[in-house]
Amino acid sequence: MANQLTGTGELLAYIRDVSLRDDPLLRELRDCTAELPAGGALQVMAEEGQFLGLLVGLAGASRVLELGTFTGYSTLCMARALAPGGRLLTCDISDRWTSIAAPFWERAGVADRIEQRIGQAAALLAELAAEPGGPGSFDVVFIDADKVNYAAYYEASLTLARAGGLIVFDNTLFFGRVLDPAARDADTEAIRKLNKQLFQDERVDISLLPFADGITLARKR
Ligand code: CA
Repeated sequence: MANQLTGTGELLAYIRDVSLRDDPLLRELRDCTAELPAGGALQVMAEEGQFLGLLVGLAGASRVLELGTFTGYSTLCMARALAPGGRLLTCDISDRWTSIAAPFWERAGVADRIEQRIGQAAALLAELAAEPGGPGSFDVVFIDADKVNYAAYYEASLTLARAGGLIVFDNTLFFGRVLDPAARDADTEAIRKLNKQLFQDERVDISLLPFADGITLARKR
């Protein structure tokens, strides 16, 4: 997924040349991630990281929630784009990969804006919903965790997002498997179901971008 973009190789190279603003720290974290088992597949691609930062900036976000930290690449891109005084809360089921993230956040000077939780995303979402001032408080929620629970994460995120807030889903084309009738696995089925649900859900305005592995934006009305 790290190199997945629509278009021909030459066009992709051109797009990268004229739009990807990279830096040595981001490159180092991507290289570090690529060496991990499944790192290449789970890594948020460079262009997507930049795009997430742009979204956070557009939203003027001071409160961001991320489900699925992995090695903290998207976390770093979004944290850099927070409004002054903004905070990002990121959650992952295991600290196996997230421990790679912290030194990079430190070096980028954004560690103090990031709160990291280890545990089930569903438990964190329930906890946040029960907090006074929790519901309706997040400007951006980025969902990039286990696909079978995307629909449940969506419902909880919709409660936590402010009106006009943005929920961003990663992998909504799921390697193109959404189109493959032979793909009957739980993850692919969950993504198909979510896409249909979002299409009909009048609580949000949506756009599915055919970029990276499919990125769906849902803005809470
Ligand atoms: Ca992903």
